[in-house]
Formats: sequence, structure tokens, C-alpha cells
Amino acid sequence: MTNKGIFAIAATSAVALLFAMNVVQVDLSSDEQSDTETMALAPISLGNPAMAATLQTRRPVTPFQEPILAALPAIYNQRLEVGNGDTLAKILMKAGVDRTEAHYAIKALTEYYNPRRIRRGQDLTLTFESAPLSVDTHTQTNSDTFIGFALEPDYKTEVRVSRTATGDFKAEQRTKKLDRKPVHAEGTIKNSLYVAGRDAGVPAVIIARLIRLLSWDVDFQRDIRKGDAFEVMYESISDKHGKPVYNGAVTFAALTLSGKQITVYRHELKDGTVDYFDADGKASRKALMRTPIDGARLSSTFGKRKHPILGYTRMHKGVDFAAPRGTPVYAAGHGTVVYAGRKGGYGNYIKLRHNGTYETAYAHLKGFARGVSKGKRVEQGQVIGYVGTTGRSTGPHLHYEVMMSNNQVNPLRVRMPSGKTLKGKYLARFKAFRQAQDRILASLKTTEVAKRGND
Ligand SMILES: [Zn+2]
Repeated sequence: MTNKGIFAIAATSAVALLFAMNVVQVDLSSDEQSDTETMALAPISLGNPAMAATLQTRRPVTPFQEPILAALPAIYNQRLEVGNGDTLAKILMKAGVDRTEAHYAIKALTEYYNPRRIRRGQDLTLTFESAPLSVDTHTQTNSDTFIGFALEPDYKTEVRVSRTATGDFKAEQRTKKLDRKPVHAEGTIKNSLYVAGRDAGVPAVIIARLIRLLSWDVDFQRDIRKGDAFEVMYESISDKHGKPVYNGAVTFAALTLSGKQITVYRHELKDGTVDYFDADGKASRKALMRTPIDGARLSSTFGKRKHPILGYTRMHKGVDFAAPRGTPVYAAGHGTVVYAGRKGGYGNYIKLRHNGTYETAYAHLKGFARGVSKGKRVEQGQVIGYVGTTGRSTGPHLHYEVMMSNNQVNPLRVRMPSGKTLKGKYLARFKAFRQAQDRILASLKTTEVAKRGND
């Protein structure tokens, strides 16, 4: 068979070949560029725009490789990283793709992916087909052909644009084959949970999630002591080569604080909602009270209103509960006092931090309950102060605010953390799940002990 014949066959099956495993990998993003031959297989020199413009590449042919290279046009990939200010068109053309071809390839892509979404640091894989070699002269007869590119909108999806047999471009989207496996780590805290986690090889993002989900029960600024211990199990998602590509959910976490253990299990309820529960099926997210006062009347709602003292319209960023002077005000949830004192128009004011997301504030108080001061921990329902009319206020009432990520939200409307406790068949289902999780944990620990034994 002639070279030309083989080339034609290869061209028609280019799309099929694109997804094949045995493409020549030219990974220019790696530092291992000592192999000059691999470098030479790239269609252009990336550091030389003049070279890129001409798209002329000479592929050295070693005597050993000669018969293979001469007989089969090679499909090879070129991996690029999106740089600052790059557009997809710019990248393709820089890599030597003709302007019109780049245009049609990008147009095909838009079926699944908006090319404007491309961002710095994102990986792109361009695929080329080497021009067939002339066996006699060892030089190429024409330039390499651009046959497509691929990108990953997220860790589990791949979008690939490929040249079809008729020469135009077509996009395909596929879900990548990923392997999901549980990873376990534990350690003793010397100075911070963050450092202990890092020393145990836990990714920073997992430590951050762990802190967030335990922060309803733990004040990480105050409760952690030297010698406390942590344990975590999370999902590690890796690609078909075993390379971790994504850190999944924390499925189990435990903290031992001064000998007392707090555990949480990630559990999916029958309706599909996912939450964290302690070993007894109590939600680790604690509820916040919408009405942190007894026997009060809602006197002003959240939203735009004419201010009773200032006289002009402005946002009322909380709700008001009219109540007799001295009526106890409760902490809406477990938390830490971040402010307790005089604060301008708010008068006597308390702000509580419940976790990384939620804060609540209480204004116009007559006074503060004993022991309520900055840095102190409070329990849900604990009396923190008393209704008054201090600050900019027309009569005794509690002005109550809920802040979500530093923004005031309507306490009566916002979706509050549930604070639910599983009961009956829900609890039974959770307990069966928990036992399965405990078995996975035990087996991971056994493996770790065995590994340590071999060191
Ligand atoms: Zn108010």
C-alpha cells in the first residue's frame, strides 16, 4: 500500500483515532523537555512566533523509528495552558492553526461550551496529524494537519472538537471515567488543625471543609488545645491514570477536644438532600431561631420603610419585635460573642458568630446578661440581654438581624440551617449507613497500620 493510501484511511478515521489511547503524547507543559525528539514532534516551536507562522517542522527520523514513521501518519497531542488574556482563537492560531479552521472549530465547540468561559491556567489539548514522510528523502511533503482540540469544563467533563471525514468540525461531550475512592487521614494537633492536617497529607480544601462543617460545635479560635486529635475521611476522585483530579466531599470527620470526641457523618437522605449528622443522627448544623424572644409582637418587617426617626425611606435590615422593657433576649444559636457594647444608632448591641457563614445581631438592648462579653461562647436559647430602647429607637423593642456571609438577610424568610434530628425509619436508615461507613473506616485504618508496619 502506498503512503498516500494509508494517509487517506487515517484521515477518515481521524475522529475515531482521537479518542484512541495510542496517540503520541507531546506534553509541552511538563518540565521534562530534555528529550529533543519529543520536542521536535511538536508542529511549532512555542517560543518562536516566526517559526509558528510558517508551520514548517522537520521531524528527525532515527534509523530505528524510520519504518514506523514513514508508514503511518502519527496523531499526536499538544498540551497547552491558557495564559493571561488568551482567547481560544488566539491560542489555536499561535499553535499554527489556520484562522478559518480555528473559527470553524470554535464554532463547533459552542454547542457545549462558551469559548468566552475559557480562563487562565486551563488546559487545552490540541491534536495534529503529522504529514506523511517521504521515505526517500526523510523530509515531510506537507505541513501537519490540525484535527481538533479538547478541553475540560470541569473535572468530570470533556468536550472534544474533531475534524470529521468531510472536513468540517464536530463537538462531542463526554463524562470522563473517574475513580472515586475514600481516603482516610488522622493526626494530633500541635499548634493548629490546619498544620496538623497538612502534615497528615490532607488537601487544604478538605481541611477548610472540615473546619466549616464542625464549626457549629467547635470554636476553632478557642477550643483547640495541643494534643487534641482529628480524623477525616473524604472522597478522592482520580482519572483513569490514577491521578487525583478532584477532592470530593468529606464523608466523616472527628475531633477529639480535651478527650471529648465530636463526630460527623455525611449522609444523604431519601429525598436526596445531604447533611451531616453525629453518631446519634442529630444534624451537626444547628438551627438558628427566627424569633429569639418570647411573647413579642412583630412590629416592623425586613425591607424598605420610612424610618420612624430619620423620616426618610431606607432599608430596614432586620426585624423588630415589640416587647416590654426587660424581656429576655435569647441567643438564636450556639456561637461566640463578637461584639457586646454600645454601637451608634443600634444602642446596646450584641453580635454573635455562629459559624463561618451565619451571624446574628441584637440591638436597642436595655443591658447585657451576666457573662456576655466579647469572645465568650453562648448556647442556643441562653439569655444574652434584655429588651430596651437604647440608640435610635422610638420605644422598647428588639431589632434582630441575621447575617449570611456578612449580608443582612430576612430572618423570617431565609432558609435557616435545619438542626433536625433523625427519627424512626430515617434514624434506622442512617444507623445502617453509619455502620457501613465505620466498616470502611476500620478497613482503611487497618491498611494504614499494615503500611506503617512495612516501613
Ligand atoms: Zn429594627
